Amino acid sequence: MADANCIFCKIGSGEIPADKLFDDGRVFAIRDINPKAPVHILVIPRAHTEALADAPSDGAADAARCVEAAPGVAREAGLDASGYRLVANQGADSGQEVPHFHLHILGGRALGPMG
Ligand code: 5GP
Ligand code: ZN
Repeated sequence: MADANCIFCKIGSGEIPADKLFDDGRVFAIRDINPKAPVHILVIPRAHTEALADAPSDGAADAARCVEAAPGVAREAGLDASGYRLVANQGADSGQEVPHFHLHILGGRALGPMG
């Protein structure tokens, strides 16, 4: 279900245009508008699922599809040899800004320890 106020739903539906690096109809990838690393890509399911904790099984399957798609997206972005980090923020302490599940792909520099 799309959420009318959700930025990622609007990008997914095309209401807000964005360059899609990958799109299989179910999940798509875009560059983060405020990159935290030289390469910062978001892999986003088209369907609105806020948190994994309360995702119906198709929401969990969408999240799994994001993980499945990530290596190909990372390879296309040139991260194959250098490596990358996958991050999914969930809730307040993670600093999650957009309450629509998504996977971050971060790379292009040594990322340091997680904190
Ligand atoms: P979160 O903190 O929810 O895990 O990550 C949300 C990410 O979405 C942030 O890194 C933020 O920069 C990015 N973001 C927020 N709004 C937009 C947008 O309109 N376009 C794109 N490409 N990225 C966005
Ligand atoms: Zn949404």
